[in-house]
Amino acid sequence: MHEPDFSQGAAFVRGAFVPIGEACVPITDWGFLRSDAAYDVVTVWDGAFFRLDDHVQRFQDSCARFRLDAGLPPERIRAVLAHCVRLAGLQRAYVEMVVTRGQPPWGSRDPRQAVNQFYAFAVPYVWIADEQQRAQGLHLSVSAIQRIPATSVDPRAKNYHWNDLTMGLLGALDAGADSVVLGDGAGNVVEGPGFNVFAVLADGSVATPAQGMLEGITRRSVIEICQSLGVALHQRALAAAELRGAREVFVSTSAGGVLPVTRIDGQPVGDGQVGALTRRIVDTYWDWHRRDALRTPVDYGASA
Ligand code: PLP
Repeated sequence: MHEPDFSQGAAFVRGAFVPIGEACVPITDWGFLRSDAAYDVVTVWDGAFFRLDDHVQRFQDSCARFRLDAGLPPERIRAVLAHCVRLAGLQRAYVEMVVTRGQPPWGSRDPRQAVNQFYAFAVPYVWIADEQQRAQGLHLSVSAIQRIPATSVDPRAKNYHWNDLTMGLLGALDAGADSVVLGDGAGNVVEGPGFNVFAVLADGSVATPAQGMLEGITRRSVIEICQSLGVALHQRALAAAELRGAREVFVSTSAGGVLPVTRIDGQPVGDGQVGALTRRIVDTYWDWHRRDALRTPVDYGASA
């Protein structure tokens, strides 16, 4: 019998821990067939989860909005996530928890009869921007594609309804940009593939969309950081024109934190350099990873 190799990552699939390369979902699971799932992503930085309780709480809220049941209490979810990290031996990790609809009995199309399934995995930390993009700022494109409206799919429930984001991203990459932000069909931007968006306006205040997007946990950190720095932050509709004319622009995501944007559709944002306030927020975001109140250290010696 060979020892399982968790060096590339570890997953929890229907009750068992397996190497990431062996983790799979049955083809008939509605999570696969219908993107019928809720999920969350929490990170581990230098041996500790960042804002673990906030992510597990949002995960439970997402499940409730989609009438999904993880079938595990929050403390068990936290223990499963920690064990995935421990098995993979990761000090810096990208950790995902998922509940899928599962499948109803053969012949039934009644989602109430489906047996929901819980999955989780830990892999090395994921950045949505490479080192150069982080240093020089991202080139963002504003897409003509509208983000799925909140009246169709609740964006506050973290979900896999990403075709709009993926098609938008493909268009942006084809046009030579690094990523994309989608709008609400009324001239406002809402969010991008995996991130929230912020503009620093001429008066030094910060604006970020209030509706039509996932309420990111990193977005929450940015809101709290602005409070602590004494910077006014407004959650309100953010017009694409305001974004283009902003002094500074940045995005927020668990997969990279706070990331500067220095070009939009080929045009410089402000003077085209990473802005001073953006830099302060980036630095504070990483400083906050040392705050005990926001850290949950992983016990690398414990058992499942
Ligand atoms: N918006 C969408 C659509 C996302 O998928 C994500 C995260 O993956 C975010 C925003 C940012 O959320 P968080 O800061 O919790 O990672």
